[in-house]
Amino acid sequence: MSARDKYEAVIGLEVHAQLLTSSKMFCSCPNVFGAEPNTKICPVCTGQPGALPVVNRHAIELGVRVGLALNSTIHPVSIFARKNYFYPDLPKGYQISQYEQPFCTGGEVPIQLKDGTQRGVKLTRIHFEEDVGKSTHHGHGTRVDLNRACVPLIEMVSEPDMRTAFEAGQYLRALRNILRYTQVCDGNLEEGNFRCDANISVRLKGAQEFGTKVELKNINSFRYVEKAIDYEIDRQVEMIELGEVIQQQTRGWNAAKGTTELMRLKEGAADYRYFPEPDLAPLEITTDWQNEIRKQLPELPQQKSERFQESYGLSPYDASVLTAAQELAQYFETVTNLSQNAKASANWVMNELLGRLNAASVEIDQSPVSTEHLADLIRRIDSNEISGKIAKTVFEAMFATAKAPETILNEKGLRQISDAKQLEKVIQKVIEANTSQVVEYKNGKTKLLGFFVGQVMKETKGQANPGVLNELVKKLLDSQ
Ligand code: ADP
Ligand code: ZN
Ligand code: MG
Repeated sequence: MSARDKYEAVIGLEVHAQLLTSSKMFCSCPNVFGAEPNTKICPVCTGQPGALPVVNRHAIELGVRVGLALNSTIHPVSIFARKNYFYPDLPKGYQISQYEQPFCTGGEVPIQLKDGTQRGVKLTRIHFEEDVGKSTHHGHGTRVDLNRACVPLIEMVSEPDMRTAFEAGQYLRALRNILRYTQVCDGNLEEGNFRCDANISVRLKGAQEFGTKVELKNINSFRYVEKAIDYEIDRQVEMIELGEVIQQQTRGWNAAKGTTELMRLKEGAADYRYFPEPDLAPLEITTDWQNEIRKQLPELPQQKSERFQESYGLSPYDASVLTAAQELAQYFETVTNLSQNAKASANWVMNELLGRLNAASVEIDQSPVSTEHLADLIRRIDSNEISGKIAKTVFEAMFATAKAPETILNEKGLRQISDAKQLEKVIQKVIEANTSQVVEYKNGKTKLLGFFVGQVMKETKGQANPGVLNELVKKLLDSQ
């Protein structure tokens, strides 16, 4: 047993998501990514004396959408609070956030486990917050861009409810999926509109108490989430095994080195001197408004996945893959409706299409193979017009050229031969070229039937209709 097997990790995630509003959280500056530095700013978001914040109603609506989608308790009254600290990209000297009374508590994120089962990861709270500016460090100093200051955020805090890096990865994927379905956030870790801090501690298996946690920041790619957490778990186990004490720290993930490194010792809540924001009234969210927002919620990933399993007989795994993005789910469902064959549609999308799209970095809604064309291909297989083998060749050409199956079958001369006369000629030729096998067949070695079928397939480059061919070969052999 390795040292790590004696320990269990405890993981809780804090996720910040930028809301897809057109203006900022407390002013009317546009909420856009990638503009010229310091061109989307005003007295409010740059913290000028006397400037007053006004709450963006659309931001609140998007937050409520998430609360409803995650089955959180939405509080009719919540309080904005000042979180005080000094940083060059925070000219006000404080960030408006929510502290003791967030707008949501509880709720859970359904995640898919390796064995195909599901479980809910509990949420502690969701609160509103404003984003801060961005500092970039250059040789000669630091530049500050305040375009991002005051962009609306929600922070979703999970309970320390996860035990493996895989679960944490699944949690993030599920959460991002829900935020995208509800059109609340782009969910892009690389662009920083979806950011994750991972809190990690380890303890001996069976222990009741949690260990001291380390907060991991800067994991800005899905590829690294699980790697970074696993690295940190190993580091902590090693330290404890050496008799060292884990300090409460904030560490950063260094993607180039594949390690975590110390950023600072963790500050406690007391360091921030939270107090209620005097410039903003308590936030009110009425039940009527909640109900209105609830009515506009789309079908969520989990509901869709359950419906796909029920209506189309998909496995839990297939259903979860096909509902991982709304556009993908829609693609699959359109192909299924057009082809009337859900199983085949799922297989073609998952086994042939997704891999090629990934390799070419093409999104599903830009797929060169349209839903109509894929459904058409599946119908031709189901009606025995083409074999599965030819379909694969056709599909490859469809992906490369975006042409219809009909066009490709004509261009490549790949049509299936079902014509008995035409096939009989080839069979006759094969029989004449293999007289000793014919004798063996006649003497009772009937499994040689497959040999003859194979020879004809070879002659016709796989184009013989297998059903017709089998029958004809048997008929002609028996009549020898
Ligand atoms: P802090 O005050 O340091 O921010 P919180 O209690 O607010 O700590 O928790 C922050 C995050 O850390 C939450 O997601 C929570 O689930 C997680 N967490 C808390 N304690 C632990 C622990 N011992 N090990 C791992 N994660 C933890
Ligand atoms: Zn502004
Ligand atoms: Mg906290």
